[in-house]
Amino acid sequence: MKCDATLCPEDVDIAALKAKYEQERVKRISDKGQSQYVRPEGGAAGDYAEDPHKPLVARDPYDEELDVVVVGAGFGGLLASYHLMQAGVTNIRNIDSAGDFGGVWYWNRYPGVQCDNDAYCYLPFLEETGFMPSKKFADGLEIQGYCRLLAERGGFKDKAVFHTLVQDITWDHTIQRYRLKTNRGDEFRPRFVVMACGVLNMPKLPGIKGINDFKGKIFHTARWDYDFTGGSYNNPVLDKLADKRVAIIGTGATAIQAVPHLGKYAKHLYVIQRTPSSVDERPNPPTDEAWIESLQPGWQADRQANFHRAAMEVFQPGDTDQICDIWTELNRNLLAQSEEEGFPASMEEFLARRETMDFRIMSRLRERVASIVKDPVTAEALKPYYNFLCKRPLSSNDFYPTFNRDNVDLIDVSETIGLQELTANGFVANGKEYEVDCIIFASGFEVTSDLERRWGIKHITGRDGVSIYDHWRDGPKTLHGTMTHQFPNMFYIGYIQGGLNASVTLQFGRQGYHSAYIIKHALDRGAKEVEPTQTAQDDYVSQFEALMPDLSAFQAACPPSYFNNEGDVNAKWALFRSWGGGWNGFEEMLDNWRKNGQLDGMSIK
Ligand code: NDP
Repeated sequence: MKCDATLCPEDVDIAALKAKYEQERVKRISDKGQSQYVRPEGGAAGDYAEDPHKPLVARDPYDEELDVVVVGAGFGGLLASYHLMQAGVTNIRNIDSAGDFGGVWYWNRYPGVQCDNDAYCYLPFLEETGFMPSKKFADGLEIQGYCRLLAERGGFKDKAVFHTLVQDITWDHTIQRYRLKTNRGDEFRPRFVVMACGVLNMPKLPGIKGINDFKGKIFHTARWDYDFTGGSYNNPVLDKLADKRVAIIGTGATAIQAVPHLGKYAKHLYVIQRTPSSVDERPNPPTDEAWIESLQPGWQADRQANFHRAAMEVFQPGDTDQICDIWTELNRNLLAQSEEEGFPASMEEFLARRETMDFRIMSRLRERVASIVKDPVTAEALKPYYNFLCKRPLSSNDFYPTFNRDNVDLIDVSETIGLQELTANGFVANGKEYEVDCIIFASGFEVTSDLERRWGIKHITGRDGVSIYDHWRDGPKTLHGTMTHQFPNMFYIGYIQGGLNASVTLQFGRQGYHSAYIIKHALDRGAKEVEPTQTAQDDYVSQFEALMPDLSAFQAACPPSYFNNEGDVNAKWALFRSWGGGWNGFEEMLDNWRKNGQLDGMSIK
């Protein structure tokens, strides 16, 4: 089906909007950066390691030698195991603090949880499994079920160890294996370790004054407490909130999904907003049977490539937008413009058109707010004044209408750069105390902060006692984003000096495939140690740095968020610090490296 360009206002005053964007950005700049956040670790908001979803079952500790331990059982860990099993490496285990496969899709069970990326791209191996998501934006429950299905089809479902927190991973050169210890008294001695710790694994809380003084109920959205709210993951009827005053902190991707449910059921809801999101409409029809019938082999890779061009590159002449949502709007509109007016003759012309389209789309989204939210002050506060892709573009049909309810108030805390204080009875915003019974933190995750904050593993030690946290203190140093010198037999899945794809599961899957290839080759050769040489790593890092596109001007113009490392333009772990030769260039480089078959740049013993 043809996906048309959107109708966006023509008469945008770019100079005036730039000034307004800058004013809104500056208002939110804090000198605290990442340090404004704390980890939920036993305070009033509970402990991130405790699982409200599934009871812990007692078991004896493991004492075991393995070929591979995969740390994590979210999509990164799942896909690594899937590829290991496909390669014939079967003596493996996933270890995860959750009670099942799924990662974020295990933990995040808040009402309304859905993937806001096209599920036909997001769920990997659809052609191999024959599974088809029931709708374009799949529910969390369906995605978690699919994770279990992948583990079952991959043959590693029963190899996982759950409710287990890895605490120490130490290379022991005497046995040429890692010793991996957990909070359940286990010792695993794997030859290889794949670190698939996740991107959104570690919830964070704003370190607000008085956060432990509040006497009511507090929890993070990634640890939703249905005992308190009523309802369940399957049926989020939050009936126990009928006599409760609730505050939710944050208006990001999570909050906009939970807010409509809270607004519907709570006696009163306060939505505490520091920076508004851009929220488009969200048509989410059931998957069309006729469309399924029409699909040809290779359709998913083709669709993922189409999504990647639309979201991260540019559409080529003759392209059509298969995804057709807010992620692809900018390039879809540019393509339509080019087809009408001719393709841009130069990069400068392309960038100028792109900038204008960006302002037009954001104006459209602001007009959308005004057309739905009746109170003009609330509507104005909800309008996003920044460039497209400064923050994750969102979609919801129910978020803005929630503010037309009598029991819902938006509390804008942009002037104080966030909520100021919690008290025994509620919260203080803009100098006024509001009494509430429950405070829900939709305040996100440690995405780009230092590794110690994100991984939740106390010690990771390589050759000669070096800690990975010190080794990467100034940012990652790797060969191909996959391995690092001094940490033999250790592999990394994530946003670490590799290629960047718009489909995170595709990106992680290819990293898992590459890791499995190296492990399989090492095992086949009877090798006990494989590790990038210092020279190969240095060469890769300097190529990586030389190719890195300079995104600092764009990021410096955005309000702070995890997209720009809370405003730190020289961030060590910025999400978008990826291979500058593009996704296809990166994949081609690794394809050639594997075809060569020599594990070039690796020291193998
Ligand atoms: P985000 O980091 O996107 O949002 C956190 C929110 O908390 C922001 O609105 C932030 O404001 C606000 N906040 C933080 N500190 C304070 C404070 N002191 N006072 C007031 N507000 C504060 O987290 P989310 O959980 O919403 O989403 C995280 C990521 O998870 C998403 O970006 C996405 O990648 C993923 N996700 C994906 C979904 C999907 O469908 N695929 C669904 C849900 C989440 P500010 O913007 O000013 O920092």
